[in-house]
Amino acid sequence: MAARSTREWQAADARHFLHPFTDFQALAAKGARIIERADNIWLWDSEGRKILDAMSGLWCVNVGYGQRELIDAATAQLERLPFYNAFFQTATPPAIELAELLAELTPPSFRHVFFGGSGSEGNDTVVRMVRRYWDLQGQPRRKLIIGRWNGYHGSTMAGASLGGMAGMHAQGGLPIPDIAHIEQPHWFAHGRPAGLSREAFGIEAAGWLQRKILEAGPDRVAAFIGEPVQGAGGVIVPPASYWPEVQRICDRHGVLLVSDEVICGFGRTGAWWGSETMGFRPDLMTFAKGVTSGYVPLGGVMVGERVAKALIEQGGEFEHGYTYSGHPVACAVALANIRLIRREGLVERVAEDVGPYLAERFAELAAHPMVGEVQTCGLMGAIQLVKDKASGAAFAPELGVGMVCRGHCFEQGLIMRAVGDRMIVAPPLVITRAQIDEMVGLIRRCIELTLADARARGWV
Ligand code: PMP
Repeated sequence: MAARSTREWQAADARHFLHPFTDFQALAAKGARIIERADNIWLWDSEGRKILDAMSGLWCVNVGYGQRELIDAATAQLERLPFYNAFFQTATPPAIELAELLAELTPPSFRHVFFGGSGSEGNDTVVRMVRRYWDLQGQPRRKLIIGRWNGYHGSTMAGASLGGMAGMHAQGGLPIPDIAHIEQPHWFAHGRPAGLSREAFGIEAAGWLQRKILEAGPDRVAAFIGEPVQGAGGVIVPPASYWPEVQRICDRHGVLLVSDEVICGFGRTGAWWGSETMGFRPDLMTFAKGVTSGYVPLGGVMVGERVAKALIEQGGEFEHGYTYSGHPVACAVALANIRLIRREGLVERVAEDVGPYLAERFAELAAHPMVGEVQTCGLMGAIQLVKDKASGAAFAPELGVGMVCRGHCFEQGLIMRAVGDRMIVAPPLVITRAQIDEMVGLIRRCIELTLADARARGWV
């Protein structure tokens, strides 16, 4: 690749590259940030600036950048067999080995996997599989899949439909038929209801699922899908009471329970699976991102016994699949990635060491006058910026306070994301305590700078 100046990269980018979730014209006017290289938890842009990546790329580079074993695994597989498909009664050794390893890493009811290339494709597979399952049960009326407002399940037609992002539904005629949504279990956004503890609120929020099932008619409801901890929605950690109650409701009505583990899987929450941390037993689990630490694309669905048995024993041909289902290079990288996670004990490290340490350091940020609440789960964290700490009153959305804070983060060399006025992090699982200190120091400075802006502009 020829070296070019930042301006030259930006000009070529603006001419030809339509970025995801981007106002194309606004970005062209401003110029994209060009990231050129990375190591461990650090990125370097085309101006040579070093940036702490507190988002692990996009919630995926869990083992950090520059891990030699993953690079070598990809290279070796590219040389040996860069591609072969799994369609025509064929398979490749890396795909078989990864399927075997995933069965070992998941709860005992999971013995099968369906591979795809991304989280979105995984969730498209979920829709096809869940509806096929009910057809095979002789209950074809069970088509309705319930998700949550502000949930995120990807950007394909099915993924965006399952998700509850109103802006996404507004473009392209979504949701597709037979998808419904309930409110998210977001205690703070529900105004920290007086007289209702977090745990009681969790039970109430699960009750919204029961209400929706009864409203639709239980014989119409196929599945409920949710992220154990909502990621893109703003790192919303539900009360501990929520998921076990959701499980009881699904069991009561025979509804399949789907855990979207695209962010939470592979150790992010301090267990291999977010559903383990949150205490529920899903029938299906979507995964992507952390399976390869994002080094190459891979995703899929872990298929639990109930669904697998029907598909295998009664189903005949399942008319679904992708060219890259079980891509050998992606699977080889996943194998190297998972072996590294195991050998380094990264999941235990999140549970026992860096996860609790992040919680401790974030608890200190909670005292800040502009912080309404902080939440963490493993190595995911959220900081809710508020106008009034005592009442929890929010800033007017049009002020874009979260974006102001995010701007300061970029300038200070920190990647932290803003979801409205909720600032979120999900650093690589290899982050050290000293690096967490550095990250929290930067976060504090950026919140201070944002508060100074808010004061100068008369927003507080
Ligand atoms: N599910 C969840 C929970 C996600 O966070 C994402 C991506 N952020 C997806 C699905 C979609 O994954 P992809 O972008 O790989 O299609």
